Amino acid sequence: MDIFLDMDGPLADFVGGAVRVHRRTDVLDHWPAGVYDLQQVLGLPTVSALWGPIDHHGREFWAGLQKTPWCDEIVELASAAAESVRIVTTPSHDPASLAGKLDWLNRHFGRPFLDYVMTPAKYLLAAPDRLLIDDCNENVDQFLAAGGKAILFPRPLNRLHRQAHDPMFYVRRELADVKKTPT
Ligand SMILES: [Mg+2]
Repeated sequence: MDIFLDMDGPLADFVGGAVRVHRRTDVLDHWPAGVYDLQQVLGLPTVSALWGPIDHHGREFWAGLQKTPWCDEIVELASAAAESVRIVTTPSHDPASLAGKLDWLNRHFGRPFLDYVMTPAKYLLAAPDRLLIDDCNENVDQFLAAGGKAILFPRPLNRLHRQAHDPMFYVRRELADVKKTPT
């Protein structure tokens, strides 16, 4: 089996970085259950009101995102379970996002880091022996619909928000199930 690990959410704390830029870390304490749309959570009038301040920080916004508390464990778990592990991530519309994300991977996993895919269309990677671990409901649904396996990484912003207090408990159990299921 090959595993594709989503970067923002499971590995890099994108939401934490974004709410800090907007000086709205208060939303982390009372996140509306299952709401993925950051513009909605922050009550911003437009898409550019959300992305403008983030884009202003450019490449370093992405390069400087904090590692999540689960990052190392999820990478270890995936590496033990799969023949190959790759990071899969969707850059923002700002070209600096691609560079900053690659900076982040090099910074945390060693340079040159080559095991990554940057694409807005993660479902194109789907195959019966490929597993996506991602915190976005739609990415998981599309990957499953395209014939792959997928585990939704529990976060307050997705439909597994009730499991978000201990996401690795859920992921460990689901991964054990996936490994038992014949492809
Ligand atoms: Mg994500």
